[in-house]
Formats: sequence, C-alpha cells, structure tokens
Amino acid sequence: MPSDCLFCRIVNRDVPTRFLYEDDDYVVFRDINPAAPVHLLLVPKKHIRSMNDLEKEDSAIISGLFMIARDMAKEQGVNESGYKLLFNVEKGGGQVIFHVHLHLIGGWNR
Ligand code: 5GP
Ligand code: ZN
Repeated sequence: MPSDCLFCRIVNRDVPTRFLYEDDDYVVFRDINPAAPVHLLLVPKKHIRSMNDLEKEDSAIISGLFMIARDMAKEQGVNESGYKLLFNVEKGGGQVIFHVHLHLIGGWNR
C-alpha cells in the first residue's frame, strides 16, 4: 500500500472521510469537488495504479465495481433519471489520483 496514495490513506482511515458504503473490498464516498448533484467515487481497497495496470486477477474487482454502481445509483435515487459511470485513465484522460476508481455522476433531472 503506497503511503503517498490519497485513496489508500482514505481506505485506511488516515484521512477521515464519510463512507456511504464499505465492504471487504470497496469503499464509496462523495467526491470533494462534485461535478453534479450526485458525484460518488467507488474505490477498490486494493491499490491498482490505473486501468493500464489491471491484471487478469483484477477482473472480479472491476466487475464488482459495476454491481456497486448499480446499487449506489438506486440508493442515491438516480437509477431511473440516469447517471454516468466514468474511469479517467492516465494524465491525458484526466486521472489525478493514481488509484483506480469509478466515478458515478448524476442527479440533474430527478
Ligand atoms: P480522477 O481525476 O483521478 O479520476 O478523480 C479524482 C477525484 O478525486 C476528483 O474528482 C477529486 O475531486 C477527488 N478528490 C481529490 N481529493 C479528494 C479528497 O481528499 N476527498 C474526496 N472525497 N475526493 C477527493
Ligand atoms: Zn492507493
């Protein structure tokens, strides 16, 4: 676990953050700088630097992220109005935090 990784520090509660969801493998919390009324970050506890670093053994972690996205969208009341799911990949793709995470963005027209 890289100690200089902000999301590892959030996962380890070194940086206090309110979790909307947590299990053995994931945490979910609100983006500090939301791009929409609902903007969640879905974060695997395992440190994976970027989507480019995925190993075959990580496929279950990534598919699990989408199941959590489905549940969180419903919990946040945006499942029917609609939402976006987004991975930013590397600097040119807008990635700022180099620990894989899925953005869930929505809530415009609830
Ligand atoms: P990226 O651009 O790497 O895909 O997304 C990183 C996201 O993390 C950004 O949308 C940014 O607003 C969010 N973020 C950065 N620092 C913090 C923080 O300390 N707490 C929370 N909750 N979100 C953060
Ligand atoms: Zn990390």
